[in-house]
Amino acid sequence: MNTIAEQYVKLVLAVGQHDADYVDAFYGPAEWKTEAARQKIALAGIDATAARLGGDIAAVRDDGDELAGLRREYLRRQLDALRARVRMLQGTKLTFDEESQALYDAVAPRHPDSYFEDILKEIDRALPGTGPLIDRYDAFRQQFIVPAERLSPVFDRAIAECRGRTLAHVALPADEHFTVEYVKNKPWSGYNWYQGNFRSLIQVNTDLPIYIDRAVDLACHEGYPGHHVYNALLEQHLVRDRGWVEFTIYPLFSPQSLIAEGTANYGIEVAFPGAERLAFERDVLFPLAGLDSSQADAYARVRTLTDRLAYAGNEAARRYVNGEIDRAAAAAWLSRYAMSSPKAAEQRTHFFDTYRSYVINYNLGKDLVKQFVESRGGAGTARRWEEFARLLASPRLPSGLRN
Ligand SMILES: [Zn+2]
Repeated sequence: MNTIAEQYVKLVLAVGQHDADYVDAFYGPAEWKTEAARQKIALAGIDATAARLGGDIAAVRDDGDELAGLRREYLRRQLDALRARVRMLQGTKLTFDEESQALYDAVAPRHPDSYFEDILKEIDRALPGTGPLIDRYDAFRQQFIVPAERLSPVFDRAIAECRGRTLAHVALPADEHFTVEYVKNKPWSGYNWYQGNFRSLIQVNTDLPIYIDRAVDLACHEGYPGHHVYNALLEQHLVRDRGWVEFTIYPLFSPQSLIAEGTANYGIEVAFPGAERLAFERDVLFPLAGLDSSQADAYARVRTLTDRLAYAGNEAARRYVNGEIDRAAAAAWLSRYAMSSPKAAEQRTHFFDTYRSYVINYNLGKDLVKQFVESRGGAGTARRWEEFARLLASPRLPSGLRN
């Protein structure tokens, strides 16, 4: 398997020569990357090698260890996704659902407009004032914007809190660490660039106003117990302890992304069960940001409702990617059903351009991870952390979460 795994890593690097977004992280031997750039294998050649490797994996016999079995199945499926991405680069057009199945091993459920209409009615009742819902929502949210000069201390405090909560339940490598940078002009709101050796670079996009709830969201999602912890645990348990080189590379358009985004989003409620998030935001972050703590409860109530609109982005992306609506219509749809500001909706359509069906990894990923962890007895805090950490350190596929 190690020989196959090494060839897989080299294939992912080869695809990266044709697709600049494909290799999200790589911390294996640097000369493999140089060699991929030198060879610049054609897409047809990559596909032929991937097909052969798939056959090689099928011929490997299981050695009984559960993790080894997961590894084999995972590598096989990652290779299938690589071949799908290669076909896309060769010009094959897939529908949104075909693409998400091929790349992320999952298809998001569909929701009719009426599903979102019902949630919007509840939000309408929860917000003060009269006039169009989107205007009242926007006016209401104004009071929760973190002033630019407070961003850094607020994020630092949120990160420290998330780290402490994670360390209480998960053993992390002693020298794990990340740095935070504030950037502009990106299609995403935050990004974790894993660099190996238990290090990440986390970038926060400040193009749009940053609301106070983004502090906990980003600190958990990008940092603890999200992407940074996920990558560090894979490196420690699979790369270093077991010598599984395939985990030194992360192809973005692959089933691994559903696990990565799903665990990063579910990790927020693992770190802050029940009312603990509200208490922390109200008592610590609101004062630090200079915001009115007496409004924290009201904000949390509205957010609980708007969180239920999470799947709205999939509907907009599906129609946009399938060519049923154009950019303006997608942005209008997002403003209406996801209550995005015009600027945020516009930013989101650019995210769709680059990442397409990737959007399902956030919401469907979270729901699949939540159901998986909690169905394994992870309802109480300690058991939930245990199952969650086990998932973070194992090669499990999205379709394997449904068991
Ligand atoms: Zn993410």
